[in-house]
Amino acid sequence: MGILEVKGINKRFGGLQALGDVNLSVAENTTHAIIGPNGAGKSTLLNVLVGKLIPDSGSVMFDGQSVLGRKPHEINQMGISRVFQTPEIFADLTVMENVMIPCFAKRDGAFRMHAIESIFSEKSIRQQADAILDDVNMTEKSNMLASSLSRGDKRRLEMAMCLVQDPKLLLLDEPTAGMARADTQNTIALLKEIRAKRGITMAIIEHDMNVVFSLAERITVLAQGTPLVEDIPEKIKGHPKVREAYLGE
Ligand code: ADP
Ligand code: MG
Repeated sequence: MGILEVKGINKRFGGLQALGDVNLSVAENTTHAIIGPNGAGKSTLLNVLVGKLIPDSGSVMFDGQSVLGRKPHEINQMGISRVFQTPEIFADLTVMENVMIPCFAKRDGAFRMHAIESIFSEKSIRQQADAILDDVNMTEKSNMLASSLSRGDKRRLEMAMCLVQDPKLLLLDEPTAGMARADTQNTIALLKEIRAKRGITMAIIEHDMNVVFSLAERITVLAQGTPLVEDIPEKIKGHPKVREAYLGE
C-alpha cells in the first residue's frame, strides 16, 4: 500500500474525458513522476489530489484516509502540499516573513491575515522558519524582500513555504517550467537535498526528461487521461508505448 492510492478516477469536462480510469500508487519516501504529452490530464489529476476539482468517480486515499469530498485546506492539513506553478509569495514581505506565514496558518487551522500583525512576537515560529531557510540554503537572504529575489530563489522560497507546513507528500507541477538551465539544475539539487534531509514523498509532474530521470524512482505515463505504463525509469526510457504517446503529440 502506498501513502497515496488513487483508484479509478474519472473526470469529464463537458464532452472531454480529461481523466479516464486513472490508478496511481505512490510509495512512502519515494519520488514518483507523472509524465505525458500536453493535455494528458496531469494537472487535472493534481487538482483532484488537492481538492480543487471533484472527480466524477473513483477514490483517493492518503495515509489511510479518504481525500475526496474534503476542502483544499483540509487536504493540506492531512499533509498534502502543492508547489504552485506560479509562486504564491508575498512580494512586499521579506523571505523570513513569507516562510513564517504558513506556520501561523498551520497552527490556527486556517489562513489568517491578522497573523501577519503578530508575526514578530513569535519566537518558536521564527526558529521553525530559520531551520527551513537553512534547509533550502536561503539563510543569508532571509531579510531580503521577496520581490527582489531571482526566479530560482523565488522557487526556493516557495518550496520553503511548503516545507514549513511539514507535509508528508509534496506535489510539484512542472517545478522547472520556464527556468534557465542553471536554475533547473539548482532545483534538481534542491529537491534531492530536501528528500535526503526530510525523507519526504514527492509526486512530480514534469516535461523535462532530464529532471524526471534525475529524480524519479517510479514513473507513470499518462496519455489522453489514461495511464499507459508505470515502471522504473530504466524501463520507461525507450518504452514503445511511451514513444508512441510522445510522437503522437
Ligand atoms: P496536462 O497538465 O497534462 O497538460 P490538463 O490536465 O491541464 O493536461 O488538461 C487535460 C485536458 O483537460 C485538456 O484537454 C484540457 O484542455 C482540459 N481541461 C483542463 N482543465 C479544464 C477545465 N477547467 N475545463 C475544461 N477543460 C479542461
Ligand atoms: Mg499541466
